[in-house]
Amino acid sequence: MSIKVALTGATGAMGGEVLYHLLQSERNIEIRCIIYDGEKKLPKFFKKTVKANKGKVERFKGDIANYADCVKLIAGCDYVFHCAALIPPKSDHDPEGTYLTDFLGTKNLIDAVKASGRADKIKFVHVATVAMYGNRSYPHVWGRVGDPIISSDYDCYSENKLKAEKYLLESGLPHFVSLRQTAVLHKYMFANNLKDGLMFHTSWNCPLEWVTDEDSGRLCRNLVERDLDGKLEGFWNDIYNIGGGAACRVTGFETLDGGFKIMGNGAKKFFKPNWNIARNFHGVWFYDSDRLENFLHFRTQTFDDFWRATLKKHPYFKLGKIVPAKLISSLLIKRLFKNTNAPMYWLKHGKEGRVKAFFGGREQYEKIAADWKDYPLLCEGNLPDGKIDYEKLRDVESAEKYLLDHGYDESVPIAELTVEQLDDAAKFRGGRLLSENYCGDPHEKLKWRCAEGHEFILSPFTVLRGGYFCPDCEPKPWRYGAVAKRSPFIAQVYFDTHTDGETDDVYPLSADEDKFIVKK
Ligand SMILES: [Zn+2]
Repeated sequence: MSIKVALTGATGAMGGEVLYHLLQSERNIEIRCIIYDGEKKLPKFFKKTVKANKGKVERFKGDIANYADCVKLIAGCDYVFHCAALIPPKSDHDPEGTYLTDFLGTKNLIDAVKASGRADKIKFVHVATVAMYGNRSYPHVWGRVGDPIISSDYDCYSENKLKAEKYLLESGLPHFVSLRQTAVLHKYMFANNLKDGLMFHTSWNCPLEWVTDEDSGRLCRNLVERDLDGKLEGFWNDIYNIGGGAACRVTGFETLDGGFKIMGNGAKKFFKPNWNIARNFHGVWFYDSDRLENFLHFRTQTFDDFWRATLKKHPYFKLGKIVPAKLISSLLIKRLFKNTNAPMYWLKHGKEGRVKAFFGGREQYEKIAADWKDYPLLCEGNLPDGKIDYEKLRDVESAEKYLLDHGYDESVPIAELTVEQLDDAAKFRGGRLLSENYCGDPHEKLKWRCAEGHEFILSPFTVLRGGYFCPDCEPKPWRYGAVAKRSPFIAQVYFDTHTDGETDDVYPLSADEDKFIVKK
């Protein structure tokens, strides 16, 4: 008997590796992929993988935004690996497509599994994203499952991904996991980033825990194999952060520095500190990513390994050493200033909403040092107003004091919390629990109210483990300032990069978005 896997996103960076690694398994695995019918050119890696595994890969053209295609994809399968997503930079330029793929596509897949008549036989592996945790900076560089879910302003990717994951958590599927994927080091990185203003969306001091595309693929192969071997007790129906661990934890600066060093010079030679955004990005070091590693044993590559391997594959990058850094900077980087996704474009063309969201306003932008010697880099142990032991900060052993408060006693399982304890957790989120009874099923639908009076139904699992609260307070438009004003849960991270004066800011996504709205 073969194991049947339904796979979305097989032509993408992660999905391609999932396909490759599942096919390396000695178990008898057959894979059915849906290939987006709007995709013009299939990547070489995908074509090569399919060619080398004839008879084991079935593929058809379609679109997960069409429900019928999802029914066809999951028919008869044992596992669903949902890797498809429209991600930045594409999602930044295509909000409608992002909704169709990232939210509607996920909803369709979940609905198709539920309606299949064999939902109890299908295991649903959903790939979510670190982007749902929103922007992080010192002191909250460490994060874990249960932390607040906050979409960065204007980020349609995280906006749709968080709605998709919440739909899964509330779906009642008998066997699911949501894997919150961190930033991925992948083979298309240079090609994708060297043509978009997204290049400047990495803030220099943001924490990033990377994982490689290959390790992500290995993770999914190990998941199937270990599940078949009965080694995943206690694994299903939970949320995990994917991360490469200690050797993959760096900052935004170290990331770009690592990438450009293989061209012979570091980031300081190619960039100026005021070219990149100051906030409103995403990325965090995962306090709990070892939990997934302990189940699936997928980590084989470090951050440094990836750049070494990249240089081996593209030895011509070394030519960067003989070309003056200024020339490379002009040819590769400065030309991207004209891209609509670049901060320099927003500044030049009066995109005040973006300037406010990503810098805190023009005045704040003007204050950023133009010279590296005046810019406090966290990875060099510098804070705007002092020094810090960076290596100690990065050490998971001393991370506990930087963790966010979840507003309830986490040593008590959610099933054992009382109605009063759930109500206290709701108060920490600015709201109340309205249900008077709780039977002790974490997936039980309970009624809640937010600080603004919206009433909604969510399970305690989605609220406490998921990090979600009121759906009416979610974007679009983005108005987390107002939420933070009343929710200590959100406030503890929001005010790391926002002032009290920003709590009435609203960021819409529409033709007039450039005039961000300040409510009267
Ligand atoms: Zn609300």
